[in-house]
Amino acid sequence: MSTSLPALLAAMPKAELHIHIEGSLEPELIFQLAQRNGVAIPYASVEELRKAYAFTNLQSFLDIYYAGASVLLKEQDFYDMAWAYLRKAAADNVIRTEIFFDPQTHTARGVSMETVVNGLHRACVDAKTMGVDAELILCFLRHLSEEDAFLTLEQALPLRDKFIGVGLDSSELGHPPEKFARVFAKCRALGLHLVAHAGEEGPPAYVWAALDVLKVERIDHGVQSVKDPALMQRLAQDRIPLTVCPLSNLKLCVFPKLADHNIRQLLDAGLVATVNSDDPAYFGGYMNDNFLQTFAATGLAKEHAYRLAANSFEGSFAEAGAKRRYLERLDQAFAAQG
Ligand SMILES: [Zn+2]
Repeated sequence: MSTSLPALLAAMPKAELHIHIEGSLEPELIFQLAQRNGVAIPYASVEELRKAYAFTNLQSFLDIYYAGASVLLKEQDFYDMAWAYLRKAAADNVIRTEIFFDPQTHTARGVSMETVVNGLHRACVDAKTMGVDAELILCFLRHLSEEDAFLTLEQALPLRDKFIGVGLDSSELGHPPEKFARVFAKCRALGLHLVAHAGEEGPPAYVWAALDVLKVERIDHGVQSVKDPALMQRLAQDRIPLTVCPLSNLKLCVFPKLADHNIRQLLDAGLVATVNSDDPAYFGGYMNDNFLQTFAATGLAKEHAYRLAANSFEGSFAEAGAKRRYLERLDQAFAAQG
């Protein structure tokens, strides 16, 4: 990597389209909130909690993820969690972020939908002061039932103006998109944007179903799509963005080494691939860590950096005028770096 490329990767404006806010919860904040709320957690120290982050697959990660979320009880807790992430995003020159949240993780513990959404939304509003446009996307947990998703949607509808879309996350295998066909149809009728995790560990068939049954506008992950040439063609033709998360894929062993990641193959096939952090507190890096490590490992070059950042703006749900402004700023950053 030339000496200027890391600086350019860090400085270029970018959008993050795949970040679970509960996955940005750092061990320090978990301990702080546990103390503030008088919640007992099964770890003696920040260090011990950090050591527990040695995942081998998606499920072993999810087990710790839900334990960490148990310290979130009050609106201010959700604000503090989102604010900590948004400060890091701003430092990484993320100028647009579309943040996933998992209300069922909280409502199942007796925390109200209002507490969750109002805390997160207030932080998103305040992020404007740091130059970050932040929006929320409500995710349904796919290991739970569609009935539960319908109930969650009903609880969230009074707060409809505070989130822009819905997604589908958590354990993929064994929970195909078809399971949520009816609730996604309802969300579509309500004018919500639609995204879904598909093709992270699951097969290309899950990506097809997310597109054709759920009618999503973006695929979260989607890296398994390369196994199906017809699917690759469809994704390229319809310019369906893939929100790829390289360090997450590495940590969850989707690829054995970062050098084996298929991000270049996705770009070369003309797909609207993007780079994102997924669950940055748990997977070893925020946005710029993902860019820097992925470029160092795979040998991607300056033109790929431009393409990935431009893709992130194109793939966002920002209105057309905002997308144009983001792209102008991207062009300025590249012009300034020569
Ligand atoms: Zn994810």
